[in-house]
Amino acid sequence: MNKENKQKFLDYLDILFPSAKCELNFSTPFELLIAVVLSAQCTDKRVNLVTPILFEKYKNPRDFANANILDVQKIIKPCGLYVNKAKNIILLSRQIVKNFNCKVPNNLTDLTTLSGVGMKTAKVVLNNVYGEKVIAVDTHILRVSNRLGIVDEKNPDKCSIKLEKIFKGNIDNLHHKMVLFGRYYCKAKNPKCNGCKLKDFCKYYKKLVKHDKM
Ligand code: SF4
Repeated sequence: MNKENKQKFLDYLDILFPSAKCELNFSTPFELLIAVVLSAQCTDKRVNLVTPILFEKYKNPRDFANANILDVQKIIKPCGLYVNKAKNIILLSRQIVKNFNCKVPNNLTDLTTLSGVGMKTAKVVLNNVYGEKVIAVDTHILRVSNRLGIVDEKNPDKCSIKLEKIFKGNIDNLHHKMVLFGRYYCKAKNPKCNGCKLKDFCKYYKKLVKHDKM
């Protein structure tokens, strides 16, 4: 993507989502970490319905570290993958208590030592809580980036590093804008290409036109 198209992309996202922010509700770094773990293959809306119940019962890493796994499973069941998620939530809480003095680590290396925390989850925390200029790549960002030809990269972690280089200086809340663009406009099925202001340079759109699918 050339410099001019990169600017068009950034400007367009600014117009569509002038005040984009994390759609998960949280009041502490630890709550965000738990919410992000719960959000795997689940909508933010559903996570936001479950976390108030969860955080009412377990208020800090120590509470979660001592929790009964079956009780946690029962509460988080609506988020799906609840057996694994409950296991990871309890394990990562124990690690935070034991290794990090009950505080969520503020760097990628330490965050990714936590059970079930990969680069994406770690970067969501780093960006939202610690203001780090990082781009956590989820399924939406991966799709948008490849469709537009910003990158040609199917691995989310490598895509994340490439995007951070390409958009250096413009990162702030780019993650949220790209997620929203993928979620509501450049959707996996039936993307809203006709009204999209990026179609002039979108690789995916050009392919659709070439194969007469528009
Ligand atoms: S033209 Fe279509 S595929 Fe390309 S960015 Fe816009 S919505 Fe996505």
